[in-house]
Amino acid sequence: MQQEPMSLLKFQNRFCSEEECQAHLFKLRWPDGFRCPRCGHDRYSLITTRRLYQCSACHYHASLTAGTVFHKTRTPLRKWFWMIFLMARQKSGVSMLVLQRLLEIKSYKTVWSMGHKIRKAMADRDGTHQLAGIIEMDDGFIGPKKKGKKGRGSKGKSKIIVSVESRGKRAGFGCIQHVPAVSGEQILSLAQQRVVRGSHVRTDGWQAYRALEADSFNHEEVVLRRNSAGLEKLRWVHRIIANVKGNILGTHHGVSGKHLQRYLSEFCFRFNRRFWEPQLFDRALNACVRTSTITYAELKA
Ligand SMILES: [Zn+2]
Repeated sequence: MQQEPMSLLKFQNRFCSEEECQAHLFKLRWPDGFRCPRCGHDRYSLITTRRLYQCSACHYHASLTAGTVFHKTRTPLRKWFWMIFLMARQKSGVSMLVLQRLLEIKSYKTVWSMGHKIRKAMADRDGTHQLAGIIEMDDGFIGPKKKGKKGRGSKGKSKIIVSVESRGKRAGFGCIQHVPAVSGEQILSLAQQRVVRGSHVRTDGWQAYRALEADSFNHEEVVLRRNSAGLEKLRWVHRIIANVKGNILGTHHGVSGKHLQRYLSEFCFRFNRRFWEPQLFDRALNACVRTSTITYAELKA
């Protein structure tokens, strides 16, 4: 039976206090009950103000947030939970300015880095997943619209390669990679990391895609003409390229090349879980608990 997605009201009731959020994190971190990371003892006392659990045997201070995206944050967990909820559930993504106002976060710098920490967790979650079966692969540009420039040579825009499993009437898992160039070298290296060898990869006639034939990918070159069967064969990848462009330009009003990959990963995280909407918050929160954080300095470096 399909579970109903959690409404805003239910979410607000469920995570109504800092203590509720903390208790929830505790369950995610120690699903079988507390274990001291140092001695393995299972009894503790709580130091609430610092989100620390003191081991009753060796007095080690186990941090609830160490090794997670929330490590050393001064922002209340409630705001984090709301932010993850809104980013995971809003199909077109949500702008950081909107979140800053909604969640009453004082500085834009704070909300901006929170957003990137969540995106990094999403990226880490999907980063090792490999695509299999029939893959549609194509490239595109993301960047501000300029007059009179078309095709693969557009300057000043970021180049992306999109791969998605084609399962006939629906698309499967997808991945979007920001690349310095749509070259044979990039295409092959991307496929080697993200596509299971022996898979069938469909592309258009751009010669760089022939690099796939250097490894054991079954490469199919599709002839694209208007209304042709070729377009149908690359329909999912074309749809994703159009959607992700709209998302980045529409919601985030353009993104610098330096941070683009994280936005692409956020888009993919939602796309890859679009049939599991009721679980999107839990899955995103889980990703945040299972990955280490990234600091503002590292983001800006
Ligand atoms: Zn201990």
